[in-house]
Amino acid sequence: MPDDCVFCRIVAGELPANVVLREEGIIAFLDIHPAASTHALVVPERHIDDLRQLDDAQLWLRLAQAAHKVAEELGHSDGYRFYVSVGAGGGQTVPHLHVHVLAGEMRRLPA
Ligand code: 5GP
Ligand code: ZN
Repeated sequence: MPDDCVFCRIVAGELPANVVLREEGIIAFLDIHPAASTHALVVPERHIDDLRQLDDAQLWLRLAQAAHKVAEELGHSDGYRFYVSVGAGGGQTVPHLHVHVLAGEMRRLPA
């Protein structure tokens, strides 16, 4: 794990987060700068820089299923926005793979 990775530090419990789901190998917590009334991040516990390094189809499916569950549990069974920033050129600012789950009132669209 890279020592300076913010999301690895949240996984390790070294940084606080508002955790909304935790299941085998996956954690989800609220985004610190929400872009919608509901904005959560679904994160594999294992450090993976970005989607281009993901080689585990089962993990990808489980991340998607966790996103559905987070949206449901936060009261958005009507649906939500699901997106992934891939690399610096894709606007990724935290280089640890994560899925954004946005729902409710969208305050800004992803850049
Ligand atoms: P990206 O820009 O990589 O697609 O998304 C990174 C997201 O992580 C941003 O929406 C940002 O607000 C969020 N973020 C960055 N640092 C922290 C943190 O320490 N805690 C939490 N909860 N979210 C963070
Ligand atoms: Zn990490």
